Amino acid sequence: MAPLLSVQSLQVRYGPIEAVLGIDFEIKEGEIVAFLGANGAGKSSTLNALVGLVPVASGTVTFNGSDITDWPPETLAPAGMTLSPEGRHVFGTLSVSENLLMGAYSIKDKDAVNDAWERVYTLFPILHERRDQFAGTLSGGQQQMLAVGRALMSNPRLLLLDEPSLGLAPKIVGQIFDLISLLREQGVTLALVEQNVSMALNIADRGYVLSSGKIVAAGSASELSQSDALQSAYLGGE
Ligand code: ATP
Repeated sequence: MAPLLSVQSLQVRYGPIEAVLGIDFEIKEGEIVAFLGANGAGKSSTLNALVGLVPVASGTVTFNGSDITDWPPETLAPAGMTLSPEGRHVFGTLSVSENLLMGAYSIKDKDAVNDAWERVYTLFPILHERRDQFAGTLSGGQQQMLAVGRALMSNPRLLLLDEPSLGLAPKIVGQIFDLISLLREQGVTLALVEQNVSMALNIADRGYVLSSGKIVAAGSASELSQSDALQSAYLGGE
């Protein structure tokens, strides 16, 4: 079976800065795939390029059989791929329910929106409790849940999570990882960028290690956990 996502020779640039230097990877339906590497390795740039938030300088992105390389960001959620970005980016002066609604912009049917709300509120009862509160009043962990919840509102087939545990207390991190497992059981395919390497490899099927914009190691989670390339990637080597 063809992979759900297939990426060939992806390059991302910011003016003169070469952030991603021609990488190839794939994600199969039902997998959790971790993207690991030190700060600045190019992980966020890769995820952002997949959903059109930064331009693809060259290369090809194929999702669910379509070449989506240059598709604008607003077309990706309806196609089945959403990103929960690093740093949460919730709208602090909108309520929790309004923030979630923004993730459902592509759904025109009111009943379908209500179903999406219900699904997210079932996953995150605390968001239901706080649905009328300004998002800015939520704790960091709750804001992270809201960011993931918003990405789930369009019912994605592939969910990209950029640093979902960043800055959260260990107990909340555990909850976020439990949720990732649950989503996979519900049929969502996941790509996960994480600084928390051991937890990421604990939950992932496979992973890619990036260093200076290149993939320096790839393999099953257990292979990677013993890989020298993983260790040296975090020490700044290759
Ligand atoms: P982090 O965990 O710090 O986000 P990362 O692996 O996700 O690291 P990227 O954020 O993709 O790495 O950054 C890759 C390179 O691109 C870095 O050199 C970074 O400084 C640069 N970069 C990222 N975003 C921009 C931007 N908007 N403008 C200019 N350079 C950028």
